[in-house]
This record gives sequence, structure tokens and C-alpha cells, in this order.
Amino acid sequence: MDFSISEEDRILRQSVRDFVENDANSVWKQIEETDELPDDLVAGARDLGLLGLSIPAEYGGLDLPISQKALVHEMLGRGPWGLASYISVHTGIGCVGIVRFGSDRQKAHYLPKMATGEWLGSFALTEPGSGSDARDMKTRADRDGDAYVLNGHKTFITNAPKAHHFFTFARTGDAVSAFLVDADTPGVAIGQVFDTLGHRGSYISEVVFENARIPAEALVGEEGKGFDYAKRCLSEGRTTLAARCVGAAQKALELALDYGSQRETFGKPLVEHQALAFRLAQMSARTEAARLAVYRSAWLLERGEPAIRESSTAKLLAAEGAWQTADDAMQIFGGNGYIRNEYMIDRIWRDLRVARVYDGSSEVQQIVIAGRLRKGDIETQL
Ligand SMILES: Cc1cc2nc3c(=O)[nH]c(=O)nc-3n(C[C@H](O)[C@H](O)[C@H](O)COP(=O)(O)OP(=O)(O)OC[C@H]3O[C@@H](n4cnc5c(N)ncnc54)[C@H](O)[C@@H]3O)c2cc1C
Repeated sequence: MDFSISEEDRILRQSVRDFVENDANSVWKQIEETDELPDDLVAGARDLGLLGLSIPAEYGGLDLPISQKALVHEMLGRGPWGLASYISVHTGIGCVGIVRFGSDRQKAHYLPKMATGEWLGSFALTEPGSGSDARDMKTRADRDGDAYVLNGHKTFITNAPKAHHFFTFARTGDAVSAFLVDADTPGVAIGQVFDTLGHRGSYISEVVFENARIPAEALVGEEGKGFDYAKRCLSEGRTTLAARCVGAAQKALELALDYGSQRETFGKPLVEHQALAFRLAQMSARTEAARLAVYRSAWLLERGEPAIRESSTAKLLAAEGAWQTADDAMQIFGGNGYIRNEYMIDRIWRDLRVARVYDGSSEVQQIVIAGRLRKGDIETQL
């Protein structure tokens, strides 16, 4: 068993870590207060190639394998999640569907401008009445000559208020199909823009389709296959989101260790009280376990394995573990942890909470894992 990573991977990880620590974490308070990502921060991400992670080189992207994307997302997780989520939706669920299932025309049209960040991508699946049970969507696309007419309502769509287009899903008859819909199409509107607890600087809103007429070539792949495409986009995203949780947990651990080494109670630093030393040890052990699950899931996916149980396991362990670790860190910070925008731990705690809910909630991951167990997939055969 070889746990080493290549020199190329090490350099990639370090360059993203430097960007996050020097450029993003230095402006985290500004992002929290303004709820905007500074233009030069987004430009820095673009210059590093972070907006083209999943895009093939012929269209101007880096086309990273999933193991390298996991390393990138782990480092992004150390910084403000508004930035991480902007990048992750644009290059992940908002992009891989075009790369995998799009026509040559769609790829040539959308990918080069997505790689440079000129066009921001998004993924519009959730509706007010269907989140975990996304198959129950109500949005319809009715064929009318050489067009489809879209009617429906999507919600909680990351990047939507600034997106150039939506990778979206609608019923065509009984089945679901995928479409690329440009934001400036008549009949397409941004509804409520949400004020979220964390992810400051991220833009999340409703998207409303009202008799929006889109050309037939806006259909992605085959009619009726949309739900399969959605699941395949989301399954890769599970591993990279899990990696982001590991990065956030690691940052929370480091902040708690640093604070606990300086703050003294009863005549000695917090970290020397056994109860808190054990807490830190648990935070570290949990984070290491999740990291290994993430790396193995990425390794399996890269070898073409479906890794359904393993990617859900990584997401479940990483999201639940990181949340517990951030909360443990808050406890070590005492009253200071509860002060907004002073010690960063409050930001990590707010950002992380939603990882247990989106991209398949922890309950949904358990439904997936239990389903695989019932099918006899009970142990990974390497
Ligand atoms: C910040 C943020 C960003 C988002 N970005 C996007 C995006 O870009 N694109 C997009 O399409 N969506 C996005 N979403 C939506 C997100 O994916 C959904 O919120 C998520 O799928 C859960 O759906 P829901 O909110 O409707 O909860 P519900 O489906 O109503 O579930 C509510 C609770 O019940 C639990 N539950 C549901 N069914 C079961 C069951 N059978 N057994 C046990 N427990 C169950 C769930 O786990 C959850 O805890 C985003 C959400 C947020 C908050």
C-alpha cells in the first residue's frame, strides 16, 4: 500500500493552500461583512486555473483527475466557503454535465468561456417541493416545434444571480431531461436571493421559468436521461465536497490548537487540561479518518469504479465529522468563539453546517449506503 503523493500533486496542493491562506483568508472578514467576493480574489482563482478544473485542455481548462480535484477542494475548504462554493459549483456540478454529456456544439460554445470565468455556471435541480426527493420535480419542458417551452421554479441555486446559464432539469413527459438554459432567455428570471447563515459571498437564489422558449439543441444528451445525468454529476461532487469538509475540519483543529496553547485557565494552557487534550486528539483522529475515506473514494473513482457506497461514506464521515470538530473547536474558544467575525472559528462553524444538508444530506447518504449493503456491497474489494 502506497500513501505517497507525487511531486506534481504536492506543488498543486501547496499553491492552492498559499492562495487560500494569503489571498482568501486575509479578506475573510470583508467577505463576511459585505457578502461579496472581491473581484481580485476571483481573478486570483482564475489565474491559478481554479475556474477550469474539470474542463478539457482543448477548451482551455486544467482537466484534473478527481484525486487532484480532491486535493484542491481540501485546500479550498480551509478558506471562506462562499469562494469554495462559487468555484465548486462552477467547475463541478455546473460543468461536468456539459463535459460528459454535452454535444460538441455545446462544449465549444460554453466551456472556453467557463474556463476563463467569463461565464459563470450553475446547477439548478432543487425545487421548493423537491430537494432530497429530486425526482419529484414539477418543472416541465414541453416540445413545441423546434423548441421546448419551460415552466417551473427552482430554488437554492448557487451562483444563479450571477450565472450566465443554468444546467437544469425538467420533465419531458414522465421522464426528466437535462437542458442548458441561458440566463438572458425571455421568461427566465431570478426570484428571491437568499440571505444564508454561512457561505457569505456566495450567491444563492430562486430561478423561475415562465413560458421560457429554448431551442431544441439546448437539450443535453438524450431526452429522458436527465435524472441519470444529475446523479452522475452529484456523485463525483460528493467526494470533492467531502474533501472540502476535511480542509475545514483541519483548519478548525489548527485554530483550536493555537488558541488553546495561548489561553490559560487554572494556571496552565487549555491544551494541558486532559479533557481538552483528549478533545483535540478526537478532532485530529476524526479528521484523519475522513481524509483517508475521501482519498480512497477519489482513488476508486479515478480507476473507473462507481464507488457509490464509498463516496457516500466519505461524504457522511467528512460532513458529520467536520461539523463535530468545528463545534469542539468552538467549545475550546469559550465565549470568544461566539463573537462574530473575530476568530474565524465562527465562520467555519456557520459555513460547515450546510454540508450535512446539501449535495445529498447525511440522511440521504445513509439511505444510499444502506441500499448498497442490501445489494451485497458490504466491503470494498481493492
Ligand atoms: C447553501 C445551499 C446551496 C445549495 N445549492 C444548490 C444548487 O446549487 N443547486 C441545487 O439544485 N440545489 C442546491 N441546494 C439545495 C440542496 O441540495 C437541498 O437543500 C437538499 O437537497 C435538501 O433538500 P431540502 O432542503 O428540500 O430538504 P428536504 O428534502 O425537505 O429534507 C428535509 C430533511 O429531511 C431529511 N429527509 C428527507 N427525506 C428523508 C428520508 N427519506 N429519510 C430520512 N430523512 C429524510 C433530509 O435529510 C433533511 O434533513 C442548496 C442548498 C443550500 C442550503
